Amino acid sequence: MLQSGQTYTSMHFDGIHEKTLVLIKPDAIQRGLVGEIIHRFELKGLKLVGLKMIRLDEVVLREHYAHIASKSFYPGVEKFMMSSPVAALCLEGLEVVDSVRLITGITKARSADAGSIRGDLAMSVACNVIHASDSVENAKAEVPRFFNDDEIFTYHKSEYEHVYAEDERGK
Ligand code: ADP
Repeated sequence: MLQSGQTYTSMHFDGIHEKTLVLIKPDAIQRGLVGEIIHRFELKGLKLVGLKMIRLDEVVLREHYAHIASKSFYPGVEKFMMSSPVAALCLEGLEVVDSVRLITGITKARSADAGSIRGDLAMSVACNVIHASDSVENAKAEVPRFFNDDEIFTYHKSEYEHVYAEDERGK
């Protein structure tokens, strides 16, 4: 994993190579929802370029969740996120960050839109089954936080001919 402050430059985030980070959280691991969640991303036409299980620690969580680290509920989030391994996914596609956030649904899962992953699969604010990067800028920090360069795969996806129009594939 990337050390704090280190950055990799060889990952491409432009156009059709935009990348985003998804963490499948401990509640989804315990409830056997990993396959269902990955399936939804596959059905959408997104390209899986990284996949692994990891155990998170206080250091990486404090960096990842820096924006909520001072909140009163943060110790609970930290305990929850360390309660089992998580599954980390890197997904690639055109405007994939926004697309995955849309599929994810809002933080409070019981109010999330039906059809979204949180809306269909969860009821809680804290236990809301997945994390997804919320901006391209954050994705550029989050993907290398959890994946080394050699854990992100480049390959031809034959389905792309039917997932995107020709001009979109050129982006
Ligand atoms: P999101 O994951 O939707 O981008 P945030 O970045 O605001 O949401 O929060 C990160 C995570 O912290 C949430 O997904 C959720 O697990 C947890 N969380 C956020 N707000 C609360 C809260 N009020 N109480 C408990 N847990 C929370």
